[in-house]
Amino acid sequence: MPSQLIYLNGEYLPLSEARVSVLDRGFIFGDGVYEVIPAYGGKVLRFEHHMQRLNDSLEAVRITNPLTNEIWLEIINKLISDTGSADQSIYLHITRGVAERDHRFPENSEPTVFVMSNILQTVEPEILQKGISAITLDDIRWQYCNIKAIALLPNILLRQQAIDKGAMEAILIRDGEVTEGAASNAFIVNQGIIKTPPKGKRLLPGITRDLIVELAKSHNMPIEEANISEKEFLNADEIWLTSSTKEILPVTRLNDKTIGSGKPGPVWQDMYQKFQDYKETLRK
Ligand code: PMP
Repeated sequence: MPSQLIYLNGEYLPLSEARVSVLDRGFIFGDGVYEVIPAYGGKVLRFEHHMQRLNDSLEAVRITNPLTNEIWLEIINKLISDTGSADQSIYLHITRGVAERDHRFPENSEPTVFVMSNILQTVEPEILQKGISAITLDDIRWQYCNIKAIALLPNILLRQQAIDKGAMEAILIRDGEVTEGAASNAFIVNQGIIKTPPKGKRLLPGITRDLIVELAKSHNMPIEEANISEKEFLNADEIWLTSSTKEILPVTRLNDKTIGSGKPGPVWQDMYQKFQDYKETLRK
């Protein structure tokens, strides 16, 4: 989409005209953080939650948030309306800015701010009927996985390893416990109880994850935030992966073995419907 409008450092520009210096610390060091926010019917899902996570990431890497929430929302709304009426995913990216190449923080750099909105690709109905396949891999990432850092090389290598094996996602294991997917949070269901690992530095506090925990609680569906051992995971009745762009995906094959009945499970069906209902409230 060469004519797609994007926001870069205070200006709205066609994507094809947007330029960033090769000395930008995002380019040189991967020194920055990002957010991905879905919008349904032109309305942003859980804006405050995404802004809180953005602020937490910025604070963790010691970059001052260059804009207020009001201005972020103004930019996001402008890009949404320019992209049209389809559901969208907004990508928001902040780096420490342009400076001579040196590891230490520059004294006077201005953060680089980039925002774009793309049409949200809906998950194919076949995937929702059959589920996806995933593999487990060793979690090779660093110790601050709660920060939504733009430096994603480990995640990319892990995801590609999954794809090379014909799977859609890599689910990561650290010290014998499941952390999350390469770009998703993980849930299991065992004997009707939903379980997801607790928040902390080993995983990204997914906005979709938190919404599902909330939906489960408000509908009296049993849910626990507790560590999941690799063994428990491999023997789960259901496995789900959640993210802002893919919502809730049922995993029906793991490491080439069938999960549960081999079809998306009943608790997933129930939660998926509750999630759709929640989304619909935004469109009203
Ligand atoms: N974990 C990782 C590593 C991710 O990259 C993502 C987002 N793609 C998630 C979890 C899910 O987070 P959210 O629900 O906020 O999209």
